[in-house]
Amino acid sequence: MYKSLNISERLLGLSEKVELDLKDDFAQIDKTAEYNQLKVLKAFKDHRVSDTHFIGTTGYGYSDKGRDTLDKIFAQVFGAQDALVRHNFISGTHALTVALFGILRPGDTLLSVTGKPYDTLEEVIGIREGAYGSLKDFGINYRQVDLIHGKAIDFDAINSAIDKSVKVIYIQRSRGYMQRATLVNDDIKEIVGFVKGIDPELVVMVDNCYGEFVERHEPCNVGADLIVGSLIKNPGGGMADTGGYIAGNTQLVEKCANRLTSPGIGKEAGASLNQNKNMYKGLFFAPHVTGEALKTAVFAGALFEAMGFEVSPKAYEKRGDIIEVITFNNPETLIAFCKGIQSGAPVDSFVTPEPWEMPGYDSQVIMAAGAFTQGASIELSADAPLIEPYCAFLQGSLTYHSGKAGVLLAAQELICKKLINL
Ligand SMILES: *Cc1c(COP(=O)(O)O)cnc(C)c1O
Repeated sequence: MYKSLNISERLLGLSEKVELDLKDDFAQIDKTAEYNQLKVLKAFKDHRVSDTHFIGTTGYGYSDKGRDTLDKIFAQVFGAQDALVRHNFISGTHALTVALFGILRPGDTLLSVTGKPYDTLEEVIGIREGAYGSLKDFGINYRQVDLIHGKAIDFDAINSAIDKSVKVIYIQRSRGYMQRATLVNDDIKEIVGFVKGIDPELVVMVDNCYGEFVERHEPCNVGADLIVGSLIKNPGGGMADTGGYIAGNTQLVEKCANRLTSPGIGKEAGASLNQNKNMYKGLFFAPHVTGEALKTAVFAGALFEAMGFEVSPKAYEKRGDIIEVITFNNPETLIAFCKGIQSGAPVDSFVTPEPWEMPGYDSQVIMAAGAFTQGASIELSADAPLIEPYCAFLQGSLTYHSGKAGVLLAAQELICKKLINL
């Protein structure tokens, strides 16, 4: 079958060798997926999920049992007191925006301790001018502490940056489009311990995008007060059509709910339409699908490293998200890689991705995504800003075997274009 996809014998030979070496890594990934699957199953059992939870409501959506129970299940799975899981969140950025506006007030300072947040948040915070209604517009200040050499948390600088105005300590777990390390939950635990030692009232908020179910625990299990993510990434399991979640302390979640809907209405209204079933099913699949995405990332890293490219993380390194970064050092190879990934997609395999000016990003970006759900990056996808050193950020795949095929097609594209010798 690989031959029918035009994968050469040589590449297939290399792939088989690489894959054999990954047996232990894959076994580890399976163990984590098994643990998290049981965690999710237990939450479904504890909350007596049944058919009636899948019935959608319309209009105001009062007493939507499915919606309210899903909040409780997310809270249990994520080690939080409460959660707000809604298809009404249009993206991860929207959920993060609701959380930031929900908990910050004029005069407060937001302190990011993992460097510059994800690109789309620059206009939300007001780091990049342009959009009306940023946090800055509302008199909310922003400060950031960079990671030392893109890796280590700068505790001294965090200590100096904290004053009476700082209300929220902001952690981005995943690397986004940055050349920086991904944080694991042990790192988050250390930050929580440190900042709460300075002021126990500080709110630790985590952008949890791409991190869910990668480890056995989630940031709330290690003391984070609020976590936020997208349902077209890990926790939607490839099933959720859209949406996001916020989970954490009861009062903080209530503040966010009041911001999403209205003060006084909060979590108690909002029709689920027919979205409940897919969100339940997605959460149920999420531990397994995240494992498949992790295997795809590990395989891609090992294969491209064997072909001479710089990759991060390496196969054996501990992971905090599902992203694999491959450095190409020139735009031609990067674009060819993305075209190859696109050609391995189940949907739109015949189209050619081109770099473009995407809303929310300040450089051109090329995105390979042939997904059942538009833009879903729990499905196999590769994004890359067209800037040096020309890195592709690869993530996803609903199944390892299709992910592996996509990665092989990308490698084959480089071979056919004579961008590498094999
Ligand atoms: C994906 C992502 C977001 C949110 O992005 P959306 O495309 O708006 O869902 C935020 N932070 C990080 C680290 C992400 O990976």
